[in-house]
Amino acid sequence: MAGISRIEPALTEEQRMISETARSYARRRLAPGAAERDRTGRFPIEEFFELAELGLVAMKVPASEGGTGIDNVGYALAMEAIAEACASTAVILASSNLASKILSEHASPEQKARWLAPYAEGKLGPASFALSEPACGSDAAALTTAARLDGGNWVLNGSKMWITSGAHAGLHVVFARSDGPGPAGISCFVVERGTPGLVIGKEESKMGKRASGTVALNFEECRLPASNLVGARGAGYAIALSALGAGRVGIAALSIGLAEAALAAGVAYGRERRAFGKALTEFQNTQFVLADCRTELDAAWLLALRAARLLDSGDKAPAETSMAKLFASEACGRIVDKMVQLHGGYGYSRDYEVERLYRDARITRIYEGTSEVQRLVISRALLDGSLSS
Ligand SMILES: Cc1cc2nc3c(=O)[nH]c(=O)nc-3n(C[C@H](O)[C@H](O)[C@H](O)COP(=O)(O)OP(=O)(O)OC[C@H]3O[C@@H](n4cnc5c(N)ncnc54)[C@H](O)[C@@H]3O)c2cc1C
Repeated sequence: MAGISRIEPALTEEQRMISETARSYARRRLAPGAAERDRTGRFPIEEFFELAELGLVAMKVPASEGGTGIDNVGYALAMEAIAEACASTAVILASSNLASKILSEHASPEQKARWLAPYAEGKLGPASFALSEPACGSDAAALTTAARLDGGNWVLNGSKMWITSGAHAGLHVVFARSDGPGPAGISCFVVERGTPGLVIGKEESKMGKRASGTVALNFEECRLPASNLVGARGAGYAIALSALGAGRVGIAALSIGLAEAALAAGVAYGRERRAFGKALTEFQNTQFVLADCRTELDAAWLLALRAARLLDSGDKAPAETSMAKLFASEACGRIVDKMVQLHGGYGYSRDYEVERLYRDARITRIYEGTSEVQRLVISRALLDGSLSS
């Protein structure tokens, strides 16, 4: 908390509180088991229920709908604190908050009573956000999972890929093609756990974030009541993009938390390890590396906080949220790499935290929009004049 006060002195009491609540829980309950979960792939389901009790699983849901209604600055602070302790748990929270934000913004009052209230109370476990498919991720408008109306029911057929928490989620927010080609043909649906025709794929064996339970979801004549359509028919793509825009601040903050952990590990190791009669931190090379990392992290924070504030003011800020995600995730990659280097051979060993952080960091440049997609959004805004050149 002392660090963030130097970067952003004007935090509200509520923002400080959410940050402190998340950090104290994360250090006590998430950090000690993070290495073991990485090794075994155990999904932190008990921890998820505890996070629900702390109000951290429905941060984007207003209090009137059972959530905690935290603003985007508070959300970023909480996400950073969780990721510092366990990046897998942070991405579970990020995708679950994304799915619940969609329900909060687009579900009908009846749908909110049915799904959102029990979700926010922690009764359903995580929610998943299912957009990507085996043949398309960045080009999500090309998705092919089909939704057809049949006797008053929606019937889904197709596959979703890389779905965080997919095997553990109580409900899935799924995007499928209901009305012909292009973005306007996509609608948003809720598929509840256990719905016949929903077949959960095997868990992916991943480089990092190994406890985040990533699976494919297959729909085989999966029949849903007509009332499981969320928002207007054909509005699914706009719903997904709008949620992802705001979600990028969360991934920026997650990247910052992960890099903060790597930098702290590097400083501690550099103070201990001696070479040529000195601690590593006495070499000017080490000092300059650490100075560059701290500077990049503070810059990443400032971009993330700017984007969060713009969102809080009602501005969708597509370019600024993309800049925050692009810069923070790329800086995170550079920082974990430098901290592995600072550890020498030990940095390559599973016995040292930086080895896991190095693997966990890599995906931040890929999910919720690759770095290239963020650059497309930023350059589009620059060239159409909505960002000044
Ligand atoms: C661990 C993990 C968790 C995930 N969780 C979820 C989840 O919960 N829900 C979900 O829906 N998805 C999830 N994803 C999917 C993720 O969002 C996609 O992997 C990501 O959007 C990229 O899509 P892709 O893998 O299809 O790559 P592609 O879109 O095929 O891209 C491949 C490469 O081409 C580049 N590229 C593509 N288009 C362009 C272009 N126009 N210009 C320049 N370069 C381009 C990309 O930047 C990338 O480098 C997850 C993925 C992983 C690995």
